[in-house]
Amino acid sequence: MFLSVKGLTKAFGELQVLNSIDLTIDEGNIITIIGPSGSGKTTLLRCLNALEIPDQGVLSFHDGFEVNFGQKVSKKQLSKLSRKAGMVFQSYNLFPHKTALENVTEGPLIVQKRKRDEVLQLAKSILNKVGLGDKMDLYPHQLSGGQQQRVGIARALAIEPELMLFDEPTSALDPELVGDVLQVIKDLANEGWTMVIVTHELKFAEQVSDTVIFMDHGQIVEQGHPSQVLKSPTQERTSKFIKRVI
Ligand code: ADP
Repeated sequence: MFLSVKGLTKAFGELQVLNSIDLTIDEGNIITIIGPSGSGKTTLLRCLNALEIPDQGVLSFHDGFEVNFGQKVSKKQLSKLSRKAGMVFQSYNLFPHKTALENVTEGPLIVQKRKRDEVLQLAKSILNKVGLGDKMDLYPHQLSGGQQQRVGIARALAIEPELMLFDEPTSALDPELVGDVLQVIKDLANEGWTMVIVTHELKFAEQVSDTVIFMDHGQIVEQGHPSQVLKSPTQERTSKFIKRVI
């Protein structure tokens, strides 16, 4: 077990967005989350990274670190939680006035206060790995959407997280640019990263995941092996969704 999520609950005002989510993520496993728009997928991901603070629920990590949102949670606990996971956003969220390299070094230099030489070396090797070794000094507007998203992935990797979270990483991309980004994620999967990916790319989900989760109305309706959930779902809501998406 890498991370256990128990009773994760979140409301925005009157709107109950997550309804007591239980989930276990094993080390090196890739979990993809599918489901209709508004079902709570992004909020679940954000709760795993302290970008949203759940109302209730317990996150327990393999190393004994635990956050119980039913009790008072300290800033120190939240920053430790946010450092455990690297987040890749749908809309890249890059700093427009920083180069690709500067976008990648920002977290380790400014937030983690690591040594400049060490961070530069790390950032360059990560940018090489995502195929942007020759684009490091370009600004986001000089890069294609796919290249910007690869900078987004490099930036998340640069904080050296234990877990990678992807929020619809290809949904803002032109279809011809999707493949490169998915390939980078597949490469990370082959390296053994533990990842949670929210995606509409069902074919990709089938190829890459150990577990597919179908969410609806803030609940996990069904989860299992990709071929089971995607090819022979047991729940009617899952099969209706899959038919709609395909
Ligand atoms: P999904 O990722 O499945 O599309 P989200 O987690 O983004 O779903 O959103 C679930 C619901 O929560 C939606 O109805 C959305 O409008 C609402 N929501 C998300 N974030 C906020 C927020 N910060 N404030 C108020 N409502 C929000």
